[in-house]
Amino acid sequence: MSPHMGTRGLGTVRRKTRAAARGRKQEGRAALALLAGAAVLAAGLALAAGEARHRARVAAVNRAYEWARSPNHGPRPPLRFGRADCVVLHATATESFAETVGILSEPRSGVSAHFLVGKDGRVVQLVPVERRAWHAGDSRLGGRPDVNSRSVGIEIMNRNDGRDAYTDAQYRAVAGIVKRLRTCYRIPDERIVSHAEIAVPPGRKSDPRGLDFERVRRLSR
Ligand SMILES: [Zn+2]
Repeated sequence: MSPHMGTRGLGTVRRKTRAAARGRKQEGRAALALLAGAAVLAAGLALAAGEARHRARVAAVNRAYEWARSPNHGPRPPLRFGRADCVVLHATATESFAETVGILSEPRSGVSAHFLVGKDGRVVQLVPVERRAWHAGDSRLGGRPDVNSRSVGIEIMNRNDGRDAYTDAQYRAVAGIVKRLRTCYRIPDERIVSHAEIAVPPGRKSDPRGLDFERVRRLSR
């Protein structure tokens, strides 16, 4: 046995050990990558399942009321997943329910809310809740402009003269809509707002004058 054999043998062992260590490192990295991939996949699946649940809830809201389709709406911007987080209440300042449905659903008017509530509590839906209806105009809420992009608008039949009283049926119906919306959107009490308080410039709108917001909030919980 040559005296060099041992040295060569040791070198081989060291190389083998290094190769084995490299192999273990690579296996470790591959396992980590696999785990990361699985985590991403699981997160993606959870997100997709959450989105599917959300869509089903939105569809249920859109099926709850009678319809008079209006063309006066567009897509919500994708920010915040395109989901509404507030409700804007309006008074129509009109007399006839049928005429008001006509105005809100004809293309020339260029305006519509998502819902219209009659004196008797009848609710007609005009725009799908996931779409951006044209009801608030120039507006600002919590420092952010364009409230239409993030709101659901509800028009309530009322002359808006401060004397015409809102009916019990209207309070129940409006609160009922908000309650349904809360199955798919996060709408805290303070984000049930009047057109008057979000209109820009301030003072441009006064509706819905005389509506008891606390009552709407209480009934919609
Ligand atoms: Zn209004």
